[in-house]
Amino acid sequence: MKKSILSCNNCHIYTLKENCPECGNKVFSSKPAKFSIEDKYLKYRLKAKENALRN
Ligand SMILES: [Zn+2]
Repeated sequence: MKKSILSCNNCHIYTLKENCPECGNKVFSSKPAKFSIEDKYLKYRLKAKENALRN
């Protein structure tokens, strides 16, 4: 049996179960590397926006 990493679109957490342990939503298979890269860029963007508002 093949196990793949699944992730919850809601909580952005990874699980091997069919449902998210946090919110109970159905989880989807995803590529963790791509996911985290996008998340990183989003964080950078939000931080840049925050700094722009402060200055
Ligand atoms: Zn969830």
